[in-house]
Formats: sequence, C-alpha cells, structure tokens
Amino acid sequence: MPLIARNIRTKERVNVFRFKDPKQELKKEDLECPFCHQPFFIRGGVGTSVRAHFAHYTDCSSD
Ligand SMILES: [Zn+2]
Repeated sequence: MPLIARNIRTKERVNVFRFKDPKQELKKEDLECPFCHQPFFIRGGVGTSVRAHFAHYTDCSSD
C-alpha cells in the first residue's frame, strides 16, 4: 500500500503519516502516484480499522 503520493500542483511529495486525517486534509484531485502518475485516492484512516494509505484506481506496476 503506497504511503507517499505526489501533489500535482506543488510537485511535492506527500507522506500520508504527516496528516492526522488525510481524507479531510488532502484533496484527492491533487494526488498522483509518483511512479506511474495515475490518480490516487485515500483509503482507511479516521473512523476505520485500517491505517490511512493511498490507493490506485487501477493496477500499478510499481506496487
Ligand atoms: Zn502507481
């Protein structure tokens, strides 16, 4: 499960652990996979039993 994303607008790396509630604090429209550049969304986190992480809509060869 990817923990680092890339912010499309700022070009910065985004570490999911730096956010208390990534789903609220990050815009998924801004996030992409740093390897395959496909869009990311956020899975898990606050209110779930799964630690927050990024996920692809489609398969990524880097996973
Ligand atoms: Zn990818």
